[in-house]
Amino acid sequence: MLRGMGMPEPGGLTPVVDCHAHVYPPELAKKALAFREQRRLEGESNYDGDTDLDGTAEAYDAWLEREGFAYGVILPLAMKPHQVHKLNDFTEKVTKRFPRLLPFGAIHPDLDDLKATLEDLKARGFLGVKIHPFFQKGATMSPFFEPIWLRLFEACRDLGLVVLTCTVFYDEIVQKSPRAANDLARLPQAFPGLKIIAAHLGAIYNWGAIHEELLGSEVYLDLSYALGFLEQGTVLEIIQKHGDDKVLFGTDTPYGSAERNLERFFKLPISSQERANIGGLNTLTLLGKQEGLR
Ligand SMILES: [Zn+2]
Repeated sequence: MLRGMGMPEPGGLTPVVDCHAHVYPPELAKKALAFREQRRLEGESNYDGDTDLDGTAEAYDAWLEREGFAYGVILPLAMKPHQVHKLNDFTEKVTKRFPRLLPFGAIHPDLDDLKATLEDLKARGFLGVKIHPFFQKGATMSPFFEPIWLRLFEACRDLGLVVLTCTVFYDEIVQKSPRAANDLARLPQAFPGLKIIAAHLGAIYNWGAIHEELLGSEVYLDLSYALGFLEQGTVLEIIQKHGDDKVLFGTDTPYGSAERNLERFFKLPISSQERANIGGLNTLTLLGKQEGLR
């Protein structure tokens, strides 16, 4: 059952979409949960370690169904180029088995056959790709205008693949530099038509940076990690400045608690129209899945 959406839609329900989730085969899921638990024990309050979800597609899909979600977007991450194809095969398999799960592809900027891999992902029905410049290339400062990333953005734009990027840049956390957020803001101008989502409201650990240029830009921002770690007033201010048509609900399960983030989202004092947009309509439009409304 849908809770609190409060906005009638065709069919009587407004879909909710989680635009940021990870699922793993059972063995790797155990490792992901162990990583999360270790970070929590180390005092990393950023890890919500109290979810019932175990990191598998089965558990996540059951949770989405229980909560009345239309879709959850699966984001595999390739730390090394050789992992790309295996991860994409796994993601294809689980998203075919669970049609509520929408596939983003794993990609790595060092792949020799980058363009052919992206073309293959598009042909297989993948809707976008996930990148993580810090984990994939050790980028501590903004890498977005470096040639290896530019060729990836260009190919994704040409193929109509959405790019979701993580926003961890440790030097920026130390220096409080807005460079990565500002570069992100400029990407849609550099590649007109490129659809890009900046995870964690655009600047995890460095949210102050996003006020410079990113807010109000054409970049989509997802809410994962922001709910619960930012003051509610700050989240509201970001939504207001950026526009509720470009903010997307996301949980980052199993690293973030799906349950708690959904609760926090429903507690945000926003209008029913804003909640419907952020809760799912924006992601459906962005991914061309508006038929989820019917
Ligand atoms: Zn994530």
